[in-house]
Amino acid sequence: MPAPILDPDPAPPTVDILAIAAHRDDVEQTCGGTLLRMASRGLRTAILDLTQGEAGTRGSALERAAEAGEAARLLGVSWRQALDLPDGAVEDTLENRLKIVRILRQLRPRAVILPYWQARHPDHAIVASLGYKACFLSGLAKAPAPPSPPAARSNGPAAPDFDLPPHRPFKIVYASLYADVRPSFIVDITPFIEQRHAALMAYRSQFANQPAGGGLFVPQEEIRERTFAEARHYGLLAGVRYGEPFVQKEVGLVDDLTLLPVQSL
Ligand SMILES: [Zn+2]
Repeated sequence: MPAPILDPDPAPPTVDILAIAAHRDDVEQTCGGTLLRMASRGLRTAILDLTQGEAGTRGSALERAAEAGEAARLLGVSWRQALDLPDGAVEDTLENRLKIVRILRQLRPRAVILPYWQARHPDHAIVASLGYKACFLSGLAKAPAPPSPPAARSNGPAAPDFDLPPHRPFKIVYASLYADVRPSFIVDITPFIEQRHAALMAYRSQFANQPAGGGLFVPQEEIRERTFAEARHYGLLAGVRYGEPFVQKEVGLVDDLTLLPVQSL
């Protein structure tokens, strides 16, 4: 029986790391192993999906909600929620940035994971800039008010949350698995690859073999082969077995050259 979706409680606890993605199952594919690794270090992790998956070829938004809850449990995240942005038509608007600001001010993550800014799927590319601007806006003491207070107020706790103190994440990194770009760094997910795969397979409506979308989706057994091959590729770049790639815009900072990881030759 699938675990219930992790509903936001009225005062969600703060977290160390928040992964923001366009679609349910994006995080499982691009940084699920990293979230598992961070949780194993005692860090609190969370996922914000911006859409509910209503435009998908397979499965209903309701099915995907239950599957996302099960995947969250398998990834060991402490909080997961989906916003209501339109699937397939995510836009970088002030209204959407403010929806994310509300979550950032509740959860107060130190680090945020966004999708890389160049992507085949327009939603993924948009979320990179939308999420970045939301992180900036969240740190402003005088952030703009929600554009339509009546709508926001009728929709539950949106308006009062803007009384929460500003919060700007310290670090933003971009999960670049979908992008043809050289990563800035790799996270070693070797001990977590099977658990990450189990989290992805929790999306039975998407990945279980079935007639709907048969020409569009790859068979279940090939998903394992592909995702493990990608993780192996990125792992090899860093001298480990399985890895997940990230890009950061900033340069690195080093204390001790003798402790730099990843062998040169
Ligand atoms: Zn996606």
